[in-house]
Amino acid sequence: VAPDDSLVHALRRVAAETPDRVCLAYFDGRLTYREVDELSDSVAGHLAARGLEPGDRVAILLQNSPHFVLAALGAWKAGAIVVPVNPMYKSAEVGHVLRDGEVAALVCSGRAWETYLRTTAADSPVKIVLTACEADLQTRDDPRVSGLDRLPAPADTDDLTAVARAGHPAPEGRAPEPSGTALISYTSGTSGTPKGATNTHRNILYNAERQRTGLELPDPPVYFALAPLFHITGMVCQFGACLVSGGTLVLAYRFEAGVVLDAFAEHRPHYTVGPSTAFMALAAHPAVTREHFASFRMISSGGAPLPPALVERFRDALGPYIRNGYGLTECTAPCASVPPGLEAPVDPASGTLAVGLPGPETVVRIVDDRGEEVPFGEQGEIVVRGPQVIPGYWRRPDATAETFPDGELRTGDIGFMDADGWLYVVDRKKDMINASGFKVWPREVEDVLHAHPDVREAAVVGVPDGYRGETVKAYISLRPGAGTDPGELVAHCRERLAAYKYPRQVEILPDLPKTASGKILRRELRSRSNDG
Ligand code: ATP
Repeated sequence: VAPDDSLVHALRRVAAETPDRVCLAYFDGRLTYREVDELSDSVAGHLAARGLEPGDRVAILLQNSPHFVLAALGAWKAGAIVVPVNPMYKSAEVGHVLRDGEVAALVCSGRAWETYLRTTAADSPVKIVLTACEADLQTRDDPRVSGLDRLPAPADTDDLTAVARAGHPAPEGRAPEPSGTALISYTSGTSGTPKGATNTHRNILYNAERQRTGLELPDPPVYFALAPLFHITGMVCQFGACLVSGGTLVLAYRFEAGVVLDAFAEHRPHYTVGPSTAFMALAAHPAVTREHFASFRMISSGGAPLPPALVERFRDALGPYIRNGYGLTECTAPCASVPPGLEAPVDPASGTLAVGLPGPETVVRIVDDRGEEVPFGEQGEIVVRGPQVIPGYWRRPDATAETFPDGELRTGDIGFMDADGWLYVVDRKKDMINASGFKVWPREVEDVLHAHPDVREAAVVGVPDGYRGETVKAYISLRPGAGTDPGELVAHCRERLAAYKYPRQVEILPDLPKTASGKILRRELRSRSNDG
């Protein structure tokens, strides 16, 4: 058997080898590999018949449902590029993506079409619209699954499920080229206007393969999609990894801790990858028990800082060790992770947990402002070269040249490497707080806050200060039943951090603002403190 050269190839291979194996599980609904192959063929045939050309863009605004998977595979089988869009985006943000990506076809829920996308798309190149009734491929009417679309397709759109069931053959001669663009992933925008990262089929396949080698998962493995599929982590580490290993992907629409725990109990997954905030929410859920995690062989956290205190608390209370992994959309999810069987060291000086070791064929370097490599232990910008690094941004030669000089990715993250090659992420370059000329990295302060037993989530930002220029402020959400107050949290940090680092202000909020992929939006907290 030839090695897979795209996820479409992986799907067809597994569908030929084990057609009746369950590919997708969605509440009570199940789709086998044969079904997913045939249904996505039909979506491709429909798109081609509606005039979609190879290289055209298909935007998908859906949560974790089988409809997302059928739309993505259908688009690739029609030779198109998938543009995954966060369904929580507001009209102006979607409008930017539709125009910037010159999107020809749009897949969304019927309700989103009715409520705002019809107007948004009117001012865009979109000419084909497929709407998904996200309740129609599951059978359970679970009231906790809030937001699940139950509307029939609006009259001016095509019904995705009906199109998939129509039995159209896939168009001939449109198989994806490994070096062709598979995705235009608009970076989630924790830092300004989204740019489209062009992930190739080869980029995706490389990192998807890396998520199964060495993990020693049972055959066939059961993956739980904790991260959203519209984010690169969900797309590659869950959907991609599942297809290349012929596994079952459990989808649960969107992250709701109680629903996720029930799905763990029911489907007994072996592996999942999510942001650390999802693990915080699961650990804080009143119903959580060790039994929920008994089936897991591995749990990975990626895309956001992982506080060492969470790893310890999680292991003590629930069993699994959360392995860290580091990556960006621009390197198609991970470029460094903790190899199975090893545990990430904690840097004794700063208390930072290592994010992992660079993967094979991947070169991670730490450089200074002049681009010169710095010695072990010294901080600098993290730069990455490897098979997962994308060729550049969609139609942005300026940004491409700046971020990928000579093909190497400049991550904008500050980090260091120890003598054994472990990589540590200090923080984002642009999140540095300058307090009286002292550098304060929010992450270090957040780790200390997370070590307090009452803290559920912590985010630290710099706020303007007449005397120091900037001063350190912490926003906190508490664990259920916690009784601490801001004064106690300031004292907790003061005991453990240098005088210029500890937060002078602590504000407690019910929840911290997050992106749909689970990252805390420090930008929003900063503007909140500027307003207030
Ligand atoms: P934007 O690029 O627009 O700011 P984003 O941050 O959500 O959006 P992603 O590509 O999803 O875009 O995020 C990558 C960033 O996430 C990295 O640059 C790094 O700052 C952070 N990150 C990822 N993994 C880790 C980790 N294990 N520890 C600490 N930070 C991490």
